[in-house]
Amino acid sequence: MSIASTGLAQVSAAAPAIPARLTDIHYDVIFNAASAARRQVIAEMRFSVEGDAPVILSLPSWTPGSYSISNFARNVSNFAAEQAGTGLRWDKTDHDSWRVFPRSSGPVRIRFEYKADSLDNEGSWSRSDFLLFNGTNLFLYPEGASFDFPATVTVTTEAAWKVVTGMTPTGPRTYTEGNYHDLVDMPFFVGSFDVDSVQIASRWLRLATYPSGSVSAAERAAVFEALNRVVIPQVRVFGDVPWTTYTILQIVDTAQAGGSGLEHQNSHVDILSPDMVGAPVLISLYAHEVFHAWNVKRLRPADMTPYRYDQPQPTTLLWISEGITDYYADLAQVRGGTVDARGFYELLTEKISEVSLLPPTALEDASLSTWVHPRDGTEYLYYPKGALAGLLLDIMIRDATDNRSSLDNVMRALYQSTYRNGRGFTAEDWWSTVSREANGRSFDDFYARYIDGREPYPWDRILPLAGLRLAGDAVREPRVGISTVQDSSGFYVTDLGAGGPPVPAGLESGDRLLALGGFSLRDPTWLEKFRARYARASEGTEVPVRIQRDGREQTVRIRLRFVTQVDPRVVEDPRASSKARRIREGLLRGVTRP
Ligand SMILES: [Zn+2]
Repeated sequence: MSIASTGLAQVSAAAPAIPARLTDIHYDVIFNAASAARRQVIAEMRFSVEGDAPVILSLPSWTPGSYSISNFARNVSNFAAEQAGTGLRWDKTDHDSWRVFPRSSGPVRIRFEYKADSLDNEGSWSRSDFLLFNGTNLFLYPEGASFDFPATVTVTTEAAWKVVTGMTPTGPRTYTEGNYHDLVDMPFFVGSFDVDSVQIASRWLRLATYPSGSVSAAERAAVFEALNRVVIPQVRVFGDVPWTTYTILQIVDTAQAGGSGLEHQNSHVDILSPDMVGAPVLISLYAHEVFHAWNVKRLRPADMTPYRYDQPQPTTLLWISEGITDYYADLAQVRGGTVDARGFYELLTEKISEVSLLPPTALEDASLSTWVHPRDGTEYLYYPKGALAGLLLDIMIRDATDNRSSLDNVMRALYQSTYRNGRGFTAEDWWSTVSREANGRSFDDFYARYIDGREPYPWDRILPLAGLRLAGDAVREPRVGISTVQDSSGFYVTDLGAGGPPVPAGLESGDRLLALGGFSLRDPTWLEKFRARYARASEGTEVPVRIQRDGREQTVRIRLRFVTQVDPRVVEDPRASSKARRIREGLLRGVTRP
């Protein structure tokens, strides 16, 4: 974002080289039954100016952690500025910046309405009795000035409604933080919802859930028990609990498919489909988001330190921030006992399968590309592939030191040497720490092949060092042999021509596929259901295929074939050496003694 002149002569003459200094910055958020009915929240900003120089105020284009440009300014309406009760002149200097012209020194008030209708953990979403908002959506910042300004937030809402946020309370429904980065890193729940808390690692952990009753008392008890199990091993990695109170802000809604979490320094926001509540995968999501309180919110790539809010901040190191976090979510589960060793190997196996189905893509490239959301399936590859890189590094460090050091030591050392010294970490910081913790071993070749390069991971060489190996399971899978292309309206039969399989009899190229074997293709789980239903069918079984051709729906029948697929699976190696068994135990239990 620039502060270039719009070309108005009288403005450019007066435009200051340095933005006007704002003091006493205060934000008001107004949300009540009336604004809920319009699915809007009202945001106000009050501050004092010295002199009449114009002030440029900007709204972030993204929420850190959600690596995507969202342009929150598009949700703004009825922008207004006033001084002493009289409207001020304003215009826009770019798509998300407003320039306000004070008449004189003194207090200025800005007000706008914001559409709170997107169910997304980076955004704002309202119901008749509820609001989720992120500070990146509502809190303007003075452009070109330092982010190191203290700010208070007051929420005005219905008397019976609750307010929960990670911000520091300093008065009735009033909260303060010392700088803008912290201010916009602490989302809010406002309205009618459930909230309770327990102590974990001698600090309070709150669970706020909307709608009321979406998580039963028994499920809450189970969540707290599981959180206690997974958070303690994470605290052990860093030797530090970086929050005083940690808050999980959770929404359950039928419009959501699966679950999605977004991390913050002392909270995270989860949006879940109803079937996620009580499912084992939810613990994995919590473990991932909580680990981010260290890895990315504090231990952060220098490319994203400090955050800037007006443009993307790509980094080649996102696989460390996300993939290694995923690895530690799995480790926290096995170390805390929410899964056993077999369950841990299954989590690794799933990641290996997931990566094997995608085009060979370098971790560094996948890290950079996430901002443009590649459509070849690799958009989020850096999660599973980065997690597996973490496993390989962990094993190699333990092997090089006879299990006296580990990836845990790398994470702790880097946290101390960079975050504790007030800076982000570089690739050089990462690899020199990995090498040091591995007795000086070089990782240049590993980096060139598997991080910067696209070679498949050397499972056969590395897994045995930790008493593990890849076994192959032959699986019989039903196939219908239909080649398709997909666009935003659905799946269409296509003829791949010479070299491709023929279009099955009864179908024609261009037919729109609606359902296979009775399962609608609009159901994201149709393939699992289809495989389950036909797993034990015999070769040649007829399967109904619902199609649309020339605007009319019809059903044709095609014959099922079976292929035998070999799926790799991580298992323990019964012939492992005593050193390899020590390394395996070290991984599973989070210990490094020989
Ligand atoms: Zn994450």
